[in-house]
Amino acid sequence: MEITKEIWFDMWHRVPNHKSKCSNVHWHRYTAYITLEWDIIDEVWSDEWMVIDFWDIKTISKWFIDSELDHWFMYYENDQIWKIISEQENSRWEKMKTIKVSFIPTAENIAKWLFEKLEPLFVDRYKTDLKLKQIKLYETPTSYVVYRK
Ligand SMILES: [Zn+2]
Repeated sequence: MEITKEIWFDMWHRVPNHKSKCSNVHWHRYTAYITLEWDIIDEVWSDEWMVIDFWDIKTISKWFIDSELDHWFMYYENDQIWKIISEQENSRWEKMKTIKVSFIPTAENIAKWLFEKLEPLFVDRYKTDLKLKQIKLYETPTSYVVYRK
């Protein structure tokens, strides 16, 4: 059985070589649908007849997202414009929470990266074979990508 929880976060990014306006620094309210898969637990404990408690998916995911992504600026390590801006003296950018990544932060790459970050957090959560199956990431209300391992 599959179970999915919706989590959203706000993040800035830039796609350096984008042919249109996405080469500008801009913001999205990302919505991630986090899907896990396993059997329904039928043991007598608080999560009986669940795959995992929705609250646990939220708590585990939000812990990472709130501490690493929400309201942060994600940028590609070889983004030359960002290097110039951030190295200016007295740059206002230095107070901005930033996350440097080794990939261009397209929705496709962010979904894959988020999957790889969240997957270990669910492994062995209940000493079962519960596993992260998929992340569906909306970058806008009409545009999304799906990453599965
Ligand atoms: Zn964008």
